[in-house]
Amino acid sequence: MQIDKIEIIPIQIKLTEPFVISKGPLTHARNTVVKIYTKDGNYGIGECCPYRTIHGETQQGTVAAGKDLAQLLIGDDAREIRKLVKKIDKTLAGNASIKAAFDMALYDLNAKASGLPLYRYLQGDNDKKIYTDMTVSLLEKSKMARKARQFVDDGFPVLKVKLGETASKDIERIIAIRKEIGMELDLRIDANQGWNYYEASQALDGMAELNIQHCEAPLAAGDFIGREKLRAESPIPIMGDESVFSHQDAYRNLAIDAIDLINIKLGKSGGICHAMKIASIAQAAGVYCQVGSFSETRLGITALTHFAKAWDNIIYYDLDSPLMQSEDPILGGMVYQKDWEVTLDDTPGIGADFDPLFLNKFEKYLVE
Ligand SMILES: [Mg+2]
Repeated sequence: MQIDKIEIIPIQIKLTEPFVISKGPLTHARNTVVKIYTKDGNYGIGECCPYRTIHGETQQGTVAAGKDLAQLLIGDDAREIRKLVKKIDKTLAGNASIKAAFDMALYDLNAKASGLPLYRYLQGDNDKKIYTDMTVSLLEKSKMARKARQFVDDGFPVLKVKLGETASKDIERIIAIRKEIGMELDLRIDANQGWNYYEASQALDGMAELNIQHCEAPLAAGDFIGREKLRAESPIPIMGDESVFSHQDAYRNLAIDAIDLINIKLGKSGGICHAMKIASIAQAAGVYCQVGSFSETRLGITALTHFAKAWDNIIYYDLDSPLMQSEDPILGGMVYQKDWEVTLDDTPGIGADFDPLFLNKFEKYLVE
């Protein structure tokens, strides 16, 4: 399985409406697709969605880095995933987003070559039931309450609410949503690092009785000491997201009891190879995890669903990014059922691919 050529394709999909988090709005998914071909004519496909405010990576940057990484892998044996991931990490620090697209393509290629769906290649089973949440953007409180109402009417089993402005406004937002939808449905919240310690403390105390499942990223990613203090006092479990890119980050947060839960994203860990290490550390620590994404298409979300099927301690699922996109360019892959269960079939590999007609609309960079 000698790597013969690699294609890097930057794509763009308009969102149905701006997706707003505390760091600002997103109007388009500007993702980068990586296709790794072997000499025998097979290929694996991966995708990443660089968020400049979270990764420090841009789409142009992922294309440039992707061309370098492609150069590095030509002629190598695609079966040696760990060796290739190590080589990539040795050559380029950071850049988790583009690394994830390469890792995803390598896993797709290897699972296809084994004739196995990716979840089975990762020793998972397809009996595990997975239901996605739906996310309410950070807007004015009455708009958020209306959106929440709409998503409840659509049948979503749990909602995720974007916060992280000021404690008092954010408490009002959750009160407005609870007034609209009642107290029963689980809500999870995500401040995307928008609060300082005092605001976070006030916000979480103010929401103690509002049935909040957990809170993602209350504080700046680097504020380990603040998170340790906050987590000890918080009535709501704290989930590490932007503070957990790597397995070392996971261990550092858990070693000082700074988080209760971890949000694993392939676009943060640099792909499946390293995400397994995070899930392992969490499992050893008795810590449950969520899987989440940036604005990947159904391709990236299908890969993530396969990964989630392989880990018992992954129990929360934030797989809604394709639902926010104005077009679905993916053939095959995960299916959203009426009750928002996310299901997979047994097609070998990720089992999803980009429609070639869609990819042909964009510039392709070929390295061989
Ligand atoms: Mg988050």
